[in-house]
Amino acid sequence: MQVTSHFNLEEFRCGDGTPYPAAWVTSRLRPLCEQLELIRIICGNRNVMITSGYRTPEYNRKVGGVKNSQHIEGRAADIKIEGMPARTVAQKILEAVSAKNLGVKGIGSYASFTHVDIRPAERLAYWFVKSKT
Ligand SMILES: [Zn+2]
Repeated sequence: MQVTSHFNLEEFRCGDGTPYPAAWVTSRLRPLCEQLELIRIICGNRNVMITSGYRTPEYNRKVGGVKNSQHIEGRAADIKIEGMPARTVAQKILEAVSAKNLGVKGIGSYASFTHVDIRPAERLAYWFVKSKT
């Protein structure tokens, strides 16, 4: 099932095979994918790869995610953009949020991927992880 023009429901399936919860597709996944469509444009219409979407609490624990992870809530995606370093992607997203051109509420900058989420919050949560991955 296509969620928005460039994102498919299957891409958000948990790493253990659990499908993205159907009850959240309209209320959570679609708004998340709309933000990802904007990120795609901001990054020069490059391909956005989803490296982690939905996570069951068990799977989240297994991969060392934080206890209250937005991935469990179906509101987060870890992404990689073809031909663009992850730190640059995080910087571009941060700039767009600062300019109020993007409604993302969580940005995690990692060396090899970027976390984005649409948690219910007034202010942006931004973190920079100084590790190799
Ligand atoms: Zn994440």
